[in-house]
Amino acid sequence: MFGKGLLTGLGITLKHMVGPKVTEFYPEERPNLSTRVRSSMGLQKEKCISCNMCAMACPNGVIKLTSEKDENNKKVLKSYHMDVGRCLFCGMCTEACPTKAITVTQEYENAVYEAEDLKWDMIARAERKGKEG
Ligand code: SF4
Ligand code: SF4
Repeated sequence: MFGKGLLTGLGITLKHMVGPKVTEFYPEERPNLSTRVRSSMGLQKEKCISCNMCAMACPNGVIKLTSEKDENNKKVLKSYHMDVGRCLFCGMCTEACPTKAITVTQEYENAVYEAEDLKWDMIARAERKGKEG
């Protein structure tokens, strides 16, 4: 009984020793993501009309935004925050958005030490990305 289990284990080890490499040397090697991967959120502030449809569509209350009226009585986005730690990446907010201002993205390096750091200021993030190019 014990010997059979040992032989099975050795067989698996040998198979993986001579088989194709499955590990990747991250971060030197970047994963080849499927086009269907959803791992982050992005906002294009200039497209946002502050309609709040995204926040109303979200099943988890992830999105909180505020707006103000400009001199032409037109709504202008003032703040847009997402508690990404609660996000399901379901895309319901993106479907509700009439201008495609909010999108699900494939950015995956979002690990942080504190849950508090998953509360994203989307306007600040978008501006940072714009500067980085
Ligand atoms: S992807 Fe889903 S859970 Fe995340 S903010 Fe949008 S609607 Fe909410
Ligand atoms: S649904 Fe789109 S346009 Fe409306 S507030 Fe959300 S991101 Fe902005």
